[in-house]
Amino acid sequence: MRRFIIKARHKSLQRKPTHQCDDHPPMFTGFLRYEELRDALQTLVKITQRIHFSQLLKLISSSSSSIKPRSIACLTQFIDASGIIRVGGRLCRSSAPEDFKYPVLMPKSSALMLLLIRYYHITCMHAGPQLVASLLSSQFWIVSGRSVIRHIIFKCVTCTRHQASTVKTLMSIEILF
Ligand SMILES: [Zn+2]
Repeated sequence: MRRFIIKARHKSLQRKPTHQCDDHPPMFTGFLRYEELRDALQTLVKITQRIHFSQLLKLISSSSSSIKPRSIACLTQFIDASGIIRVGGRLCRSSAPEDFKYPVLMPKSSALMLLLIRYYHITCMHAGPQLVASLLSSQFWIVSGRSVIRHIIFKCVTCTRHQASTVKTLMSIEILF
């Protein structure tokens, strides 16, 4: 989608007589690059935060101290250079990566969070809630994250089928003896 937008802007700029080629971002073709995926995730995070934390954004921008709810108020939240709300402060002196020191604040009930939890669960061979939570925590701080991760993983059809077949086998053994 971003490639399409950049290409469309590029074409519209080319039609203008005062156009200079250095003004716009580069147009990529072929496989998606790391920078493109990173920019796309940043854009989605910004949109999600604008939808779910619109009040919080205003309060942080006005440096107000009346931030609610308490689960968010106790975090040291701030807006970074790209306009994303981040939390942290405890690990500010460590040599860990910036994403780990200051994770991105995310709501528990968003389509993006649902997709990210499913992505980590499936790519890590249907990992359990603890592993998915630790993988996500390297980048994101989810409000009441553990419960939502557990809820989504327990809905996984593949995991349920495997658990169901295990239970069936055990029951049949018990019946035989
Ligand atoms: Zn699964």
